[in-house]
Amino acid sequence: MKIAILALQGAFEEHRQMLLKICVESFFVRNLADYQQEKDALIIPGGESTTILKLLKDLSLYEPVRTGIINGLPVFGTCAGLIMLDGGHLGSMNIEVRRNAYGRQLGSFHVEGRFEGIDHEIPMTFIRAPYITKVGGGVEVLAKVDGNIVAARQDKQLVTAFHPELNDDTSVHEYFLKMAGGR
Ligand code: GLN
Repeated sequence: MKIAILALQGAFEEHRQMLLKICVESFFVRNLADYQQEKDALIIPGGESTTILKLLKDLSLYEPVRTGIINGLPVFGTCAGLIMLDGGHLGSMNIEVRRNAYGRQLGSFHVEGRFEGIDHEIPMTFIRAPYITKVGGGVEVLAKVDGNIVAARQDKQLVTAFHPELNDDTSVHEYFLKMAGGR
């Protein structure tokens, strides 16, 4: 398998390290030519969704990425990457999202929690995170923290409000690769 990691801004290197740990090949996408390389799935990292959206548009990546996802390219969005898939951004997922849902300053915290389809509690690190306020048809909720939805899936699209790439546990990445059809 070969995974494309959107590397315009944010925590893209951490995703590459995570994939290295489980021996999965990846490459960074910084422009259209990178994106057009052969790939089995795409990761959109955390960072600042306003910046990532602007760069996607400036680099003429917005339409190709959107079309790719809508046509079935498996995608995993973490934090700002989750926001990127909602109706106000790439619009590929049937979710409504509240940005900076935990407040801007005191919004970073860590918990261990259940994730549907993973057999143990996983570490969840939140950094000025969003959560999902509403899911529509076809969306399966995978994790909740304090009653708020922090992970969900729709077909081959996976999103987490937390950053699995910032901890040692590789389970969520492995879940994604399985979902993408590789394991
Ligand atoms: N607060 C950021 C945003 O709204 C997301 C933070 C993150 O990705 N860690 O885009």
